[in-house]
Amino acid sequence: MPRLVMKFGGTSSADPARLEACAMQIAQKARQGYGLAVVVSAPAGATDKLAAMVQQADVDAQWPDETDAVLAAGEQINAALLAMALRRLGLKARSFTGWQAGMLTDAKHGEARIQHIEAQRLTALIDGGTIAVIAGFQGISPDGRITTLGRGGSDLSAVAFAAALKAQACEIYTDVKGVYSADPNMVGNAKLLRSLSYEEMLEMASQGTKIMQSRSVELALAGQVTLRILSSFESDPGTIINATAGLEQAQVRAISYSRDEARITLHAMPAGSKALADIFDALAGAGLQVDLIVQSPAKHARQSTLVFSLRRADADKALDILINPCHNLSLQDVSLDRQMAKVSVIGIGLRSQTKIAHTLFETLSAKNISIGAVATSETRISVLVAEADIEIAVRSLHSAFELDQN
Ligand code: ADP
Ligand code: ASP
Ligand code: MG
Repeated sequence: MPRLVMKFGGTSSADPARLEACAMQIAQKARQGYGLAVVVSAPAGATDKLAAMVQQADVDAQWPDETDAVLAAGEQINAALLAMALRRLGLKARSFTGWQAGMLTDAKHGEARIQHIEAQRLTALIDGGTIAVIAGFQGISPDGRITTLGRGGSDLSAVAFAAALKAQACEIYTDVKGVYSADPNMVGNAKLLRSLSYEEMLEMASQGTKIMQSRSVELALAGQVTLRILSSFESDPGTIINATAGLEQAQVRAISYSRDEARITLHAMPAGSKALADIFDALAGAGLQVDLIVQSPAKHARQSTLVFSLRRADADKALDILINPCHNLSLQDVSLDRQMAKVSVIGIGLRSQTKIAHTLFETLSAKNISIGAVATSETRISVLVAEADIEIAVRSLHSAFELDQN
């Protein structure tokens, strides 16, 4: 019997009516003869509520193991509710927490990495005709504690189970019809992309496109798991992502954005690479990821200005590290802009296409959008802009690169 993994996101399973709709989709696949593992998220908003409860109970974030035990609860509830909805349709179904389904991880609470899936029991059950409904986003550490896989981690659970079960495909059911050339909730005439390469999807996900968690796309690429992104509510073939998809397409495929950015400017840095190396070393040592970087000469010789971006949630921690006597920087030397965003043009072979950079800068300048920092690679050009400008930046670039529908 061919096996299939179906994953339902938070918005698709947020209330009894929507769970019912998910159950109908699952029943249809069961009738087609698939052995099914279904991975569920928590209902939309539930994980944020659980996180707020934890913040009150563990103000200094001292107990990451108990935090994970709370955060994992939303998925567990939804798995059991969906199993009940399937039983109401007369199907054989059974819910599983992550650990019951055999998801073994390391002990890095909040951002655990999958080590292995013990899939024998699950495989036997599925092949015997029972639908396994698995709580996503969670596993168990070597010492038997519940772990979570990072926000959006149910996508990662789904891909990992698809690989472990040697499923024909991993179907990601969500609240839009598939992957579009830009967020369809921001750009009304975004185009539905029927096929994408793993590399394109990975670049979109890592530049902020929320539809798939980026680690899950990495895992799909590594395990060559075919992904299909589909609507939970409408019948549409959606987007397919596999090794052969998308490669023959035009260069610019999509515009991605992330609002979650901050910019730090270091004025009057001593010129030379030693000071820079010390600073980036200290930030990396604290686990902070720096994204876009620009260095330019300052007014005085032997000094330079350094601008870099990082996740907004990490900005305060970065300031604490920088304003430290060993870097000889004081508060006047450092400024922080919290309300930044990043817009990225995604495609293939972009670095060799100077015309693409030209169109990008010309388009943003025509809209009076100033650019904070730039980064380029084969598959993307990203620029940092003020968060207030992000919608207009995304829409105008979408039109400038002729991605609009019709
Ligand atoms: P789920 O709850 O199913 O995990 P998410 O909210 O994580 O769903 O992802 C779906 C959302 O991703 C959509 O509602 C849409 O607003 C957003 N999104 C952003 N960029 C894109 C894009 N390029 N194509 C499709 N959806 C996108
Ligand atoms: N519920 C988790 C989150 O909100 C995991 C997921 O939805 O994929 O991040
Ligand atoms: Mg998601």
